[in-house]
Order: sequence, then structure tokens, then C-alpha cells
Amino acid sequence: MFSQRLNRVRALMAEQQVDVLLLSVGADLPYFCGYEAMPLERLTMLVVPRDGEARLIVPRMEAPRVVERPDVFEVVAWDETDDPVHLARSLIGPVSTAAIGDHTWAGFLVDLMKVLPSVEFRRASEVTSSLRSIKDAAEVESLRAAAAAADRVAADLRSGNIELIGKTEAEVSAELGRRLLAEGHQRVNFAIVAAGENAASPHHEPGERTIKPGEVVLCDFGGTMADADGVGYCSDITRCVHLGEPSAELSDAYDVLFEAQAAQVAAAVVGQPCQEVDRVGRAMITEAGFGDNFIHRTGHGIGTEAHEDPYIVEGNSLELRPGHAFSIEPGIYIPGRWGLRLEDIVVAATDGPDNLSTTDHRLAVIDV
Ligand code: ZN
Ligand code: ZN
Ligand code: ZN
Repeated sequence: MFSQRLNRVRALMAEQQVDVLLLSVGADLPYFCGYEAMPLERLTMLVVPRDGEARLIVPRMEAPRVVERPDVFEVVAWDETDDPVHLARSLIGPVSTAAIGDHTWAGFLVDLMKVLPSVEFRRASEVTSSLRSIKDAAEVESLRAAAAAADRVAADLRSGNIELIGKTEAEVSAELGRRLLAEGHQRVNFAIVAAGENAASPHHEPGERTIKPGEVVLCDFGGTMADADGVGYCSDITRCVHLGEPSAELSDAYDVLFEAQAAQVAAAVVGQPCQEVDRVGRAMITEAGFGDNFIHRTGHGIGTEAHEDPYIVEGNSLELRPGHAFSIEPGIYIPGRWGLRLEDIVVAATDGPDNLSTTDHRLAVIDV
């Protein structure tokens, strides 16, 4: 699998006249070689020449963590007193264009530019993102498994099995995280819990505010779950619960959101430009008078990273292809009062949109 991926990226490098691909911290590295770099000051870098063998530069002390795949890359360990930038330069050799991982520490890029003054550096995503954004069947199943785990937590939330009233947002956030881990995730990436007026801030930081009856509670959470090869795929879901009967105003707004989100999921068909998926829901929300209250794009791609290509946003004319995986998460936010968002993970497929998030989409009303 990794060899195939490297072969495919080498073909793209040839097309784009990139001589070498340099991958460090971030999601490209595990995608192409199965190893995830610690975000350390010590350099880890996979050097992939367009023609020639890939080599993984790692600090000697991290080498025991590398699962060796001699058919994919050779391990080159460096000692604490070695200069890893010079080591990288020697493995890179004479090239004119290098594509370097977007998340590589800027410090290493600056050092590499100093020792390779005539090399043109580009973002690795220019060659990697078109590959990574199209998920193969095994990757879709990994995303489905992660989504199913998050669904089980969301179902517990909706059914009232997770205590809310009298708890702080931070306590509920910690509980959502514990449950994601209990459902098989290796890592919690975020667990937004926003009550009442706090829900009007889409990325609200859960705090010491106590949750009370009569409020809406917006929960948006996700993590990373390892697949059979140990590569982590992300989950991401948003559901809202209301503690007691909602006002007619909030309930009507939720109906608008529900219909808009469903229409967007239905519109996520192969060949549809990403921005059209955004427009479909935005038009409905605007029609209902909430256009100014839907203050973010509709969604983001998802895979080994929680946010990656393709982005479901106005201005992105990229047409959906089978295997594109992304969130559809419109929201309506009334500053100072309340907010609502509904988020699923959807995969574009030849036989129509494949919605991986199956938890009931209605506003959950919990008796108080
Ligand atoms: Zn978000
Ligand atoms: Zn989310
Ligand atoms: Zn999301």
C-alpha cells in the first residue's frame, strides 16, 4: 500500500516537475510510510526523490519506534551530535525543486534554504493533497469505523445517558472525550460543549459555565482511531440537545438547519462542485432569514487529518469525485442567545452520497 502511494506521488512529482518530496511532522508522513513523527525539535524527514529510493531520517532515539518497511524506505538514524540538516542536504542531492510538508517546522525550512540556496521550495500539499483527499475503499472503512464510534457517543448524548444539567461544559467535554476513547479512539482531537449563549461561538472553548434546564447544548467532538495498519483516521460529529421543551423560535430555526443540512448531504454527489454543496444549504438558511447567522463554510475534508482538502466552501469549484470525504456542518448562530449546528461526515460515491454519521439528526429534547 505505501509503495503504491509513493509510486502515485512520484508520478505527480514528474507531472509537476518536483525533484524531491520532503515530509516531516504532519499527516503526509504516516500516509506515505506508516510512521508519524513526534512534533519535536529533532528533525524527522522522509526524503522521496522522484527517481530513487526513499529514506527516512530519524533521531537515533526514535528509531526503535519506526516500523521498518525496507520495500518502502530505508532508515537513516542520526546521533545527538550530528547535524540533521546537513544529513538531509546530502540525501536530497542536487535538485532544483523540492516540495516540503506544509506542517514542517519553519525552522527546518529556513535551515534547508540556507544550505540549498538555489532550490525552489513548494508546499508538499501541491502534490499530496489530490492523492490524500481521494480515499480508497479501505480508508473509507476506516473513516466509517471512526464515525460509528463517535455515533455511539452521540447517541448516548441524545438519549440523556450523559449527564448535562448541573455539570460544567468542561466536565461534559471531558466525559465525551473519555467515551470516545472507550469506543476505540486513540486520541481525542476536540470536544466542544457550548451551552446556551455560548453555542453562538462555533469553536467555543468549554469552560466552567454550569449547564442549566431550558438551554440548548451544542456538542461537536471527534478524535483519531487507528485502523488495522495503525494509521489513524478522524471522526467529527455535531449534535445539539435541548434540556426541556425548546422555544418555537429555536425549534423552527432547527427545522431550517435540519432541512438545509439534509439537502446538502443529498447534493454531495460525484461531479458536483464543492461550492454548490455550500450554496444549496446557504440558500435555504438565507431564505429563512438566517443568512447572516451562518458564519462559516459548510465543511472540510477529513481523513488522517481532522481538517484537510476538499473544503466545502464558496470559491472552491473542485468537482467531487468518488472517495472524497468531508463534513457537512451548517450552523445558525444568534450572538448572546444560542447557536445550532448539525454535522455529518459524508463520502462522495458513485451510487450517491455515503453518510457515515447515522445518529438521529433531529434536535434531541431531554425531559427535565
Ligand atoms: Zn469546526
Ligand atoms: Zn465538528
Ligand atoms: Zn468538522
